[in-house]
Amino acid sequence: MTAVLVRYHEIALKKGNRPYFIDLLKRNLVSAVGGLPLTEAKTLQGRILLSFGEEAPREDIARRLERVFGVANFSFVERMPAAMGEIESRILQALDGKQFASFRIDARRADKDFPLTSPDINRKLGAAVKAKSGARVDLENAELTIAVEILPRTAFFGFDKIPGAGGLPVGASGRVVSLISGGFDSPVASYRMMQRGCRLIFVHFHSAPYLDKTSQEKCRELVKLLTRHQFISRLYLVPFGEIQRQIVAGVLRPLRVVLYRRMMLRIAEAIARKEKAQALVTGESLAQVASQTLENMAVIQQAAGLPILRPLVGMDKQEIIDQARKIGTFETSATPDQDCCQLFVPKHPATKARLADVEKAEAKLDIAALVHLGVESAEVEEFKFPE
Ligand code: ATP
Ligand code: MG
Repeated sequence: MTAVLVRYHEIALKKGNRPYFIDLLKRNLVSAVGGLPLTEAKTLQGRILLSFGEEAPREDIARRLERVFGVANFSFVERMPAAMGEIESRILQALDGKQFASFRIDARRADKDFPLTSPDINRKLGAAVKAKSGARVDLENAELTIAVEILPRTAFFGFDKIPGAGGLPVGASGRVVSLISGGFDSPVASYRMMQRGCRLIFVHFHSAPYLDKTSQEKCRELVKLLTRHQFISRLYLVPFGEIQRQIVAGVLRPLRVVLYRRMMLRIAEAIARKEKAQALVTGESLAQVASQTLENMAVIQQAAGLPILRPLVGMDKQEIIDQARKIGTFETSATPDQDCCQLFVPKHPATKARLADVEKAEAKLDIAALVHLGVESAEVEEFKFPE
């Protein structure tokens, strides 16, 4: 049997809701290992134990569990009765053939009725391992950490703690609509909101047939990558070209990008209400481009009633790029595309749009009809992990 003990940050789990959070985390863990031979998922005191058939590939299990939000860390473990003699002999047996110069025992006693305290367990097992291996104890920089967990009746040990993705289980914080563009920023913004427990619904605006379909293909690929963290996703592909054509008909060039953005927010909001989502997410970062000055952000934001979450607002481009590499979206975002905001816009858009000017320009448009057109003409695609 292959068993994995998953540890979560208890402090992040609000008191009254704890059983709900843990159950959500357990369900997400089960989804993450879908298709692998899972035999049991069980909640133990402050831990979740996943058991697999012997043939389950460890690498694959680890890679998938690493993506589950709400996990502090996890270990492949062996299970045995909670008796010191048994624990000691099983650990010594498992160390056969292992080379290490230093080690530490990291014991945790969840069962307060167990006769030894955690420091006692550390000392006793430490002495036994030292006698057998000749390695020294190093509490700071041990080459090998032996994690021991004592629960009522059952005990576990494992050799490494693999860091988890942190955050909160997806779904714990509710649903939000993420505006995803195919660039570097919005996938990172999406990731960060998922990490805070949001379930995302994706919306992408494209200008086909005026521009090619590359941005749509990129978004599909990005949503596919991000779905590895939330297991089910929905992507709305909104044809925006016709709407843009109508916007530009009566609007001076410098204001166009601001009007596009306001229209995107309105359509995204209509989709959010349909999906019972509570906020919108964008990849905006302060002053990164012309549409992201404080003045423009304020004017753009006025078009939406729902809160706009901007998880990257205080991040530098380089920090965002570094995170894109870490989460695996960099390569896809780096491929060239035709972004809808390039359509009919000047090289130097307004950096200080005034709400009065914007509203005057919009007065010539039938906003409600354009929003309706966007929502009704959207194509909806579903994504699943594993596929
Ligand atoms: P990104 O790297 O995410 O494309 P950006 O640096 O290009 O962002 P902008 O083009 O100003 O910045 O876009 C700001 C945000 O507006 C994006 O992060 C995204 O959330 C949203 N957005 C822009 N274009 C689109 C689009 N075509 N479809 C959906 N959302 C978009
Ligand atoms: Mg962009």
